[in-house]
Amino acid sequence: MNTPVPFLDLKAQYRTIRAEIDAALNEVVESTAFAGGPFVERFEEQFAAYCQCDHAVGTGSGTDALWLALLALDVKPGDEVITVPLTFIATAEAIHFTGARPVFVDVDEMTCTMDSAKLNAAITPRTKAIVPVHLYGQPADMIPILEIAERHGIPVVEDACQAHGARYAGRRAGSLGDAACFSFYPGKNLGAYGEAGAVVTGNAEIAERVRAFRDHGQIRKNHHQFIGWNARMDGIQAAVLGAKLPHLDQWNEQRQAIARHYNRLLENATDVVLPQVAVNRESVFHLYAIRSRGRDALAAALRAEDIHCGIHYPVPLHLQPAFAHLGYLRGAFPIAERCADQVLSLPMYPELRPEQIESVAKALTSHPSPLTPTTT
Ligand SMILES: *Cc1c(COP(=O)(O)O)cnc(C)c1O
Repeated sequence: MNTPVPFLDLKAQYRTIRAEIDAALNEVVESTAFAGGPFVERFEEQFAAYCQCDHAVGTGSGTDALWLALLALDVKPGDEVITVPLTFIATAEAIHFTGARPVFVDVDEMTCTMDSAKLNAAITPRTKAIVPVHLYGQPADMIPILEIAERHGIPVVEDACQAHGARYAGRRAGSLGDAACFSFYPGKNLGAYGEAGAVVTGNAEIAERVRAFRDHGQIRKNHHQFIGWNARMDGIQAAVLGAKLPHLDQWNEQRQAIARHYNRLLENATDVVLPQVAVNRESVFHLYAIRSRGRDALAAALRAEDIHCGIHYPVPLHLQPAFAHLGYLRGAFPIAERCADQVLSLPMYPELRPEQIESVAKALTSHPSPLTPTTT
């Protein structure tokens, strides 16, 4: 019988940092600084420094962070915002709720991130922002994306919700664009004990606008400069995140070591394409997503052995019913569609043990997948 392998094990991490977390939680409860306040401010400073950025603004979630960053850039009805179809739906939801229209650009075959060669053709006079997604922990191809954006005078907002600590050309994800958005959803590389997110930026004006938007448009007590929302980070989450941040680099290194271990064990597996990291980029392996033409059979075989995988994402956004009104048809973004049919995320978290990794690899290699018909 195989060792059961969960997709994610947050309890295993809590056991390694219990004393620090419990002390942090206790401090917030004793001080009752629950909504915004000193714990949030302290974490904002620490996280900005970690991202090599001047400003971080804590928000209620990564979705809030994306929405508020776009609002801060004055994205509004009638505008277009470019992103990719292979991402979590929040990227496009945030665009939608500014009133702007999401416009998709296909991803590249190797990294599943925005294909910078296809970006220029998607830009129109209405394009107000570009939101590349650092998928699975690997930064998108930022140098060409930033060059194209700069030529057109369009700001770039990184969706770094899966890429805390990743690097591109030696620089941290979050420090590359005009602003960047992070999620601290519990399963992310840096996860809260509840919902949280942040916008980081080197631009003081963007930071101030996000700060006001997350707090009802207030620029000082009872002075509402514009209509905002309640999208604040809470004190408990900030304290947990502050306690966890000093461990993040080590956890990311553990993820990278696990990825290398998977790579070694799976290099000869048939009909399995291993995750590729482009030169000049460093992935923090939020997910370890293989590709297989027999993905569904493979996932079923693993499940039968008590090994739990994920699919990120099975339906690209342009084919989701929620975005049917955009009028995209199947075939519009062939690479994203093929990735959606083939990707399979294997168990990945820093505390994953070698015997669990071996057990996953054994199950994968001992179940050659019956190939499903493919159009490629
Ligand atoms: C998790 C995630 C989000 C949303 O973050 P929440 O904190 O869950 O709101 C947005 N984009 C991507 C790519 C994500 O992975």
